[in-house]
This record gives sequence, C-alpha cells and structure tokens, in this order.
Amino acid sequence: MALIVHKYGGTSMGSTERIRNVAKRVAKWARAGHQMVVVPSAMSGETNRLLGLARELAPARPGDAYGRELDMLAATGEQASSALLAIALQTEGVESVSYAGWQVPIRTDSAYTKARIESIDDTRVRADLDAGRVVIVTGFQGIDDQGHITTLGRGGSDTSAVAVAAAMKAAECLIYTDVDGVYTTDPRVVPEARRLQTVSFEEMLEMASLGSKVLQIRSVEFAGKYRVPLRVLSSFTPWDIEIHEEARSGTLITFEEDEHMEQAIVSGIAFSRDEAKISVLGVPDKPGIAYQILGAVADANIEVDVIIQNISKDGKTDFSFTVNRGDYAKTIDLLKDKVLPALGAQQVEGDSKICKVSIVGIGMRSHVGIASQMFRCLAEEGINIQMISTSEIKTSVVIDEKYMELAVRALHKTFDLDQSGNGKVAQS
Ligand code: ASP
Ligand code: MG
Repeated sequence: MALIVHKYGGTSMGSTERIRNVAKRVAKWARAGHQMVVVPSAMSGETNRLLGLARELAPARPGDAYGRELDMLAATGEQASSALLAIALQTEGVESVSYAGWQVPIRTDSAYTKARIESIDDTRVRADLDAGRVVIVTGFQGIDDQGHITTLGRGGSDTSAVAVAAAMKAAECLIYTDVDGVYTTDPRVVPEARRLQTVSFEEMLEMASLGSKVLQIRSVEFAGKYRVPLRVLSSFTPWDIEIHEEARSGTLITFEEDEHMEQAIVSGIAFSRDEAKISVLGVPDKPGIAYQILGAVADANIEVDVIIQNISKDGKTDFSFTVNRGDYAKTIDLLKDKVLPALGAQQVEGDSKICKVSIVGIGMRSHVGIASQMFRCLAEEGINIQMISTSEIKTSVVIDEKYMELAVRALHKTFDLDQSGNGKVAQS
C-alpha cells in the first residue's frame, strides 16, 4: 500500500462521462489498497471561458488590474471539477471528500495569477486518508497570508499535484493527460516522433522551459527539488487495465543519470513560436550598457531569453535579445521612449516572426560536436541561424519562423530520433 497522487488534466475531466471514467480509475487504485489524493484541473475550456468573461467586462489588460478577482473567478473551475469528481467517486461506492486549496490549506505568496506555493499543511488530508477516504484537492490554487485566493499560472494544476506529492512524501505522482507521455518532439510536427520511456529531470526541465507544453515548468522544478517520482501518462487508456501495467506506461521522469548512460545523446527537440527578436543598434561599447538596456526591460517585468552582444567596431556595438512575442510591442516602445535617448544609441529594430528550436540531451555533456552537427543539418536545409544559445545539455537556435517545422523534422532525423533502435525510446 502506498500513498499515490493522481493529477487529471482538463481534457480528462472534460465531461461528466470522462469524470465518471476518472472516478472508476481512481476507485480501482483505491480498492487495490492505495491511499489516493487526486488533483484535478478545471473541465477543459472552463478557465478560458471564465477569463473570457472578465475580458468582456475589462478589455484593458485585466491581468494587471484585477488579479485578485481573476483568481477568485478562475479558481471556481477547479472547485467545480473537484466536487463533481467526489460525487462520481461516491456513486462508485468510494468514500471521498473534495477540498479547495484554501481549505487544505495550500499557502502561496500574493502574486495573483502567478502565485508560488510556499507550504502545504497536510493534517486534514492525512486524517481523511487515514479514515479511508479518497481526498480530492483542487489544482491551480491556494491562499495567501491575507486569506485571498490565488492561482498558480496557466497549467498550474501540475504544480499543485507535484507540491502535494512532495509535501505528503507520496510514493509517486502520476500526471494523467491527453497524450500518452513525453515525446521526442511534438508528433503533430513530426509524425515519427516517439514516446520516451524515461527522461531525466534535467532534460524535462529544459524541454518545459524551451516550449514543450506537457508539464508546467514549475511542477518540474518542484519535482527536482523534492525528488518527487513523476510519471506522465494517458487518461484515455481503458480505466480497467491492470494497475501494474498502467503504472509502467507513459514516461517516467528519472533522477538517476546512470540509467541514461547507454542512451541517446539528444533526447528531444523542443520549439517555440512564442518569441520575438529585438536589436538595439549603434550602442556605445562601454560598461553598464547591458544593464541600462536589460535593467529597463526587467523593471517593466518583461522576461528576456537569448542575449547577444557583438564585438564592437569604432566603439559602437549592436545588442540583441529575445522576448515573449506578447511583450514585443511593449518592449520596442519602452526602448524607444526611455532607453534610446539615454544611451545615445541610434536605432531599435525587431522581428516578431522568429522561432526558437532546441536540441536537448544530457548526453551532450560528454559528447563534443553535437552543436556543430546541429548547425550542419540546418545549413544543409538552407536555414539561416540568427542567434545561438547553449547550456550544458541544450543548444538553441533562433531562426525565421517559416522554417520551424522543416528544422524540427530535419533535426529529428539527424539525431536518429526517428529510429526505433534507439535504446531510450519506446516501441510505440
Ligand atoms: N485550469 C487551469 C488552466 O487551464 C490550470 C490547469 O489546467 O492546470 O490553466
Ligand atoms: Mg496542463
């Protein structure tokens, strides 16, 4: 008997019929003797629907002005799905109780719409588990020290589940979703993409931060910090498959590097269209320039990703960086209004039609020449690289958005990810 956390995404909770299926699956695990905590997302589309209503009333950047109320509003989506799941479980003859984040309580900071979990008091949940109940805890939300309801950012139910699993020292956290695991890349772009049986926590962290949408990045950070055994698997398998079979399906996020020794050098290709490039031209090459430019951008709460500063010619240089596409116009305006005049720089230019494509693999640490293999592949496809950024286990390039799919397909092939012979990759 073990304490297990299940998390079900919005699609898995998308209708009463699906909720009934979730209840049957959870009931199966509970009847096998496990102590079960379940963290559901809102029914699919519900969070968008609720936030859409708010936008109808307040079109101007509601995220900034009405954060508290948006959280009050959006948190209801998970409250509804959690209660429905408790009802479905009870009709299956399984005793269960649902709690909103504030009832647990899951304590967070006060950063509305993107709060961070600070602590979880598991006393109440444990008492219910000990009394033989399945406990359902709303995903995506908590309460701050003033008693205000907060939410954890889009996709935040993943983080709720992992945080609950960490706080309760669960044996495993199973993230049930509408795909059957983590893939070498998005199968919609590369039909040959394959499910990974295991992926290291560090690779998962890179993939999540580089645009793979399978898990919210904070949930992966949490899993790493507290070493929560985490598995991503499908909620669309028949609910009554054998538990031992189900428990081995999907993709396991591992912490043991040894398991990867024999395996692929590159584990996956991540990509993101969500990028824009900005260059400040003719910047004087002297101390403090990067700070003057990026400090102003950071003060406006804009996240910067890839950064390049060129070698100077005649005391002037060019300075380029990428931001989220949604922040593009705001960043250009900010630079033109505030930064250019102070810098004596000549010009700001930008391109919002770019994308970032990355290869990720812990094997890159111990193998040289992987980045150049990537560059050769792109050269052979005639794709121009605009920016490059590297870390120990990834290489990213910024390229024209129109070549994104071509680049991803070519790289997937170059690094043998199409091949079924790859030890790390499941035979799907
Ligand atoms: N319901 C929230 C969202 O749509 C949280 C989640 O599903 O993880 O972002
Ligand atoms: Mg999600």
